[in-house]
Amino acid sequence: MVEPLLRVKNLVKHFPVKGGLLRREVDRVHAVDGVSFELGAGETLGLVGESGCGKSTTGRCILRLIEPTSGEVWFEGKNVPALGKGELRALCRDMQIIFQDPYASLNPRMTVGAIIGEALTIHSLAKNRRQYEERIVELLETVGLNADHMRRFPHEFSGGQRQRIGIARALAVSPKLIVCDEPVSALDVSIQAQVINLLEDLQEQFSLTYLFIAHDLSVVEHISTRVAVMYLGRIVEIASSRDLYTKPLHPYTEALLSAVPIPDPSVKRQRIMLQGDVPSPIRPPSGCHFHTRCPIRKLPLCSEKVPELKESSPGHFVACHLRG
Ligand code: SF4
Repeated sequence: MVEPLLRVKNLVKHFPVKGGLLRREVDRVHAVDGVSFELGAGETLGLVGESGCGKSTTGRCILRLIEPTSGEVWFEGKNVPALGKGELRALCRDMQIIFQDPYASLNPRMTVGAIIGEALTIHSLAKNRRQYEERIVELLETVGLNADHMRRFPHEFSGGQRQRIGIARALAVSPKLIVCDEPVSALDVSIQAQVINLLEDLQEQFSLTYLFIAHDLSVVEHISTRVAVMYLGRIVEIASSRDLYTKPLHPYTEALLSAVPIPDPSVKRQRIMLQGDVPSPIRPPSGCHFHTRCPIRKLPLCSEKVPELKESSPGHFVACHLRG
């Protein structure tokens, strides 16, 4: 079996909640609660769930932009949380991120050339000024911009163009893995498809691997090889894109899918409306986190026992006592 490029095992991230006069820890936000998955080279894994389910925190823990509470993240045989500063810096060349908000993620005081060139300087990837500028122009052209854009500032660009600048910045160090953290959520629908097409082209051109985070199943459908669905810090289902969209097993996945519009008007799909809001991650429900909203729950089983993520058919995993 081929070794995966990325293997995440039992990843946990709890944020302390401080209170009182002495600002002591009074509670914990269970943002990521034991997430495990593998990602093969050249693959795209879509990571989907409602806002606050822990998907962005998972992405940031993998890159160590935030420190995980516990768990393992293996990238090419190295356990990322155990790496020292020097090793981690070297690894930053292989793992990059594209942020959700193309407005907030670019420094408004830096020119586009300086934003893209920063990583070239940090990692000493250009021998001289000429090589530095040539590489920036090459990166701009790769993402559909041009050399003239180099000396302009982020506020002179549209949302879609800014996201292209963010993509060029990620590509500057020739990474192997890119965490795409809701890269199209802040863009108009008409621009979303252009950015997704660009990411697909770049994946083919540079043999990239993506962890593609989104809150909407319709966004990840075409770009993902496999899709993992998260609810309150846990993965509840993971399968090939085709299986997940045609044969969903988890009731939460079914509810998310029922909200995805179908282009063919002759096909009718009944919308599943979940009762209540997503519970607080400070005190998530016992047993299956989804039991307070699940239309098929069986009590007390579902409120007492945590369902394991089990393989129901080859490559299709689900965490539910009644399905799979
Ligand atoms: Fe619903 Fe129970 Fe399955 Fe959870 S384990 S999804 S509550 S049926």
